[in-house]
Amino acid sequence: MQPMTESAIRRSFINASRSETAALHLPQDLESIDWENLDQLGWRDYKMPKRGYLLAPFEGSVVGVLLRAPDTAPPRNRRVLCALCEDIFSEDEVFLFVAKRAGAPGRNGNTVGTLIHSDFTCSRNVRAEVKPTAIHPDPDVVVKSRIEGLQARTEKFIRQVLNQ
Ligand SMILES: [Zn+2]
Repeated sequence: MQPMTESAIRRSFINASRSETAALHLPQDLESIDWENLDQLGWRDYKMPKRGYLLAPFEGSVVGVLLRAPDTAPPRNRRVLCALCEDIFSEDEVFLFVAKRAGAPGRNGNTVGTLIHSDFTCSRNVRAEVKPTAIHPDPDVVVKSRIEGLQARTEKFIRQVLNQ
């Protein structure tokens, strides 16, 4: 991703009111974010832990999605697959986040739910080291296809939020 300013981040949201975007807290490490190695930027609001935010490139710009984390954490022993990175190795928690749909459907209470890593580690997961195998001898090819998969699934989720 290209680095974003605070005001650009606040302006990017497609399913949040102006008061919600004004009230959100930016990532505390915004200054040191490694944008180059991110396909999307996600974070939990450190003052409102039930809130999450996901920013991702979409049709030439970057859009932000306001997410609600579940009220109770899922049981630790139940492994679920993150719908964005589909990583099977990470031990990190996966939450069923809920996003209000954009526009009138959202104002009428329509939502979209998606399983996402609770700390939005998806960009890191898809770049994890790959051991060459007989079927996939080139690790770079595997990582590239994982990154493309993450981007495609994230775009699909954004389309759902946009009612497309
Ligand atoms: Zn993930």
